[in-house]
Amino acid sequence: MQGFVARKALEAISPYVAGKPIEETAREYGLDPARIVKLASNENPLGMSPKAKNAAMQALVNGTRYPDGAAQVVREAAAVFAGVSPDEVIVGNGSDEILGLIARTVLAPGDRCVYSQYSFSVYELSAQECAAQCVEVPAKDFLVDLDGLLAATDVNTRLSYITNPNNPTGLPLEPAALFNFLERVPEKCVVVLDEAYTDFMDEKLRTDSFAWVKKFPNLLVTRTFSKAYGLAGLRAGFGVANKELIEMMNRIRPPFNMNSAAQAAAVAALEDQAFLKTVVDSNTKERARLAAFFDELGLDQLPSQANFIMVRVGPKAAEINEAMLRRGVILRPLKSYGLPEYMRISVGSREENDIFMKAFREALSVK
Ligand SMILES: *Cc1c(COP(=O)(O)O)cnc(C)c1O
Repeated sequence: MQGFVARKALEAISPYVAGKPIEETAREYGLDPARIVKLASNENPLGMSPKAKNAAMQALVNGTRYPDGAAQVVREAAAVFAGVSPDEVIVGNGSDEILGLIARTVLAPGDRCVYSQYSFSVYELSAQECAAQCVEVPAKDFLVDLDGLLAATDVNTRLSYITNPNNPTGLPLEPAALFNFLERVPEKCVVVLDEAYTDFMDEKLRTDSFAWVKKFPNLLVTRTFSKAYGLAGLRAGFGVANKELIEMMNRIRPPFNMNSAAQAAAVAALEDQAFLKTVVDSNTKERARLAAFFDELGLDQLPSQANFIMVRVGPKAAEINEAMLRRGVILRPLKSYGLPEYMRISVGSREENDIFMKAFREALSVK
């Protein structure tokens, strides 16, 4: 018998499933870790800005001291970037932490939390932790159904999560449709607009979401340094919202949640927009190359605006995934999203994509 009593709400939780780590794959398949290509977690194939890396290494020298708990430099840099004031910015140990903080800020047991089918699993986890009632709204042709989300938002709904562009589909939402949604959603419901992949979108599809924060006191926009900025291992993200909401979240934010190296790297990364442009241009080009490859193979795919593509590989998805692992390529099967025939494939560097394509052709014929 266990000697503790866990909260009842935790019984429903199944833990987050991350992309298979390189070291684990190397061990299991007897491979050289240096030759493994990981296209499973939407990490940045070009790494991080050299300026960010340098800043992080400098920060290590002062690792004996606590970081600035207020992360002032990061909030200031993010505020300039977003065109808001620093008291409208909160930092997180990755944006995942902010997704959890907002849930703990607004969701009491029994309150409703609404999000779309095929959403990032952290939304459900965060709401379940608060013993909230989770409402998953069916997607329409894989697209987030904003009218459906609205219809599901009742007087007890305190939180709604929307990802743009979405993970794992890569599909974007129309800026006008999103704006219209925000105008209609009850003010008591906080809307989290998770923009983890927004940097990868075509310019004309991007929303002016930071400016929307001025108009909608119930809007929280989250950004991460893990994807386009390449700092996934350092854990850094930020959120922008009305300052009263930020202040409330700050009450429960762990005091030193963003470490010194992450703070230094985040500031340098934001300043190096030239590096970001290189990353985004490479992604756009390589994403098109992968899309053409899937077309050539006759596989269904969704038109992605992110740094990954969702592809229908068919009923043999698990076997194909296994065949890819044996060849040292880690992909993301989407069975846990209720999509057993699909995989999500991160856009790699040119060299990584070449390796992927060669292995994928083989794996499809082996099955
Ligand atoms: C990767 C990702 C994030 C960011 O996670 P971090 O905690 O910042 O690393 C947030 N939302 C979605 C949908 C993601 O895919």
